[in-house]
Amino acid sequence: MIELGCKPEEICKCGITATIGGKNPGKTILLRADMDALPMQEESGLEFTSLHSGHAHTCGHDLHTAFLIGAAKLLKEREDEIQGTIKLMFQPGEESLTGAIDMIKAGILESPKVDAAMGVHVQPLLPLNHLNFAKGAFLSSTDILEITVQGQSCHASQPHLGIDPINVAAHIILALQSLQVKEVPTNEAVVLNICEVKSGYTSNIVPDQAVLRGTLRTYNPELRKKIIEHCNKLVELTAKAFNATAKFEVVESCPSAINDHKLVEDMGEYISNLGIDFTTDPNYRLQVSDDFGFISELVPSIFFIIGCKPEGTQASHNHNSKVVYNEEVLHMGAALFAECAFNWLKNKQ
Ligand SMILES: [Zn+2]
Ligand SMILES: [Zn+2]
Repeated sequence: MIELGCKPEEICKCGITATIGGKNPGKTILLRADMDALPMQEESGLEFTSLHSGHAHTCGHDLHTAFLIGAAKLLKEREDEIQGTIKLMFQPGEESLTGAIDMIKAGILESPKVDAAMGVHVQPLLPLNHLNFAKGAFLSSTDILEITVQGQSCHASQPHLGIDPINVAAHIILALQSLQVKEVPTNEAVVLNICEVKSGYTSNIVPDQAVLRGTLRTYNPELRKKIIEHCNKLVELTAKAFNATAKFEVVESCPSAINDHKLVEDMGEYISNLGIDFTTDPNYRLQVSDDFGFISELVPSIFFIIGCKPEGTQASHNHNSKVVYNEEVLHMGAALFAECAFNWLKNKQ
């Protein structure tokens, strides 16, 4: 970045920003790339496999970082023509859903105040030249749910003397699945899934406690609120029915990444002039979350999913130890950021 003539600044731990332009009056657009790796071993077999055991770029965030540096290079070459300011956001901690919040708290959206934001994620199962950026809720929200059932331990041979939290937990799991089937409109995409059950010591003790953890995903913020309220009630009352108590908590959340309708239309026009024959599906949605959602809650935003299916090798999904990306996407990602930012500012005078 320094070699390109930028002045990068670390505004929070590993959160780096720099601006380009600002010589001519105009609005400010934020370009965001996440940078973090995952705590897993890489098995891609590539010559540039991670040298750090137990740490691997298996979500492609290294490509996002390369996109943004590439865009910075392109934009620097035409800096005098930029009408307004382009703010670069190199973000840590996307996987933990903490990095965007940390950078927002550190002032990334202020001085100059950000008018629009843009982010992108690679998708190795989607063919190269496929670029999706549908209007509205584009990525799902995520809520990590935790339910703690408090029972009363006793000898397994005399269960009537205690309160079995495993039995209560089982009823709660079934009730939550019924809630999803019976209370969610059939045209809504909702996932409510209990994936972790912890309880018990051995075969002849009724334990004191059971802890369940799971995830709720949806694209509809109103429905999300309603389901959480309903889960809370259902957990409390199911436990009560068996003389137990239960605490329902949302321990971690990430809102949907919402694509602003006008930005989708504007950027769609600029992208069509890029000279890349992109295929776009206006109905494409992805049941994953990205903490870019926290930015899209605060400023009009657009998020892209760009295809980079590898050729001549098996395609894997993100977070797979063998995932490989088609590197042809690198110049596309850089051009996408640069073209959208430059033209949006030019047309928003
Ligand atoms: Zn990931
Ligand atoms: Zn990712």
